[in-house]
Amino acid sequence: MRPEEIRWIEDVPMLQECDFCHDGLGIKSYGCRNFEYEGNRVLAEKSVNLLAACLECSQLIDGEAWQELTERVFEEFLERNGVRRKETFGVKMRIEEIHQMFREHLVCAGHS
Ligand SMILES: [Zn+2]
Repeated sequence: MRPEEIRWIEDVPMLQECDFCHDGLGIKSYGCRNFEYEGNRVLAEKSVNLLAACLECSQLIDGEAWQELTERVFEEFLERNGVRRKETFGVKMRIEEIHQMFREHLVCAGHS
């Protein structure tokens, strides 16, 4: 993403859970173009979707700490879903790939 493509979104209603870790409350929103993962649409049909991020996740996104973001989301996912040990590698890979695509499709960010 080029810097000039980043613009701020104002007045985004936000009191929803974080779309990344699903643990914290969203305090910041990110506009992301649609993308598909393994043939499935990840986001809704609108051309640009707003994703909520909690304080911790937004700091990682803004700091481009993608590895840390993946680790964080992965840990939260394991806690919520009780994934079996032998499946964890695949889960982490998927989270990493989805974050990579999110990064490529990110169009804007704004505070809620
Ligand atoms: Zn979060």
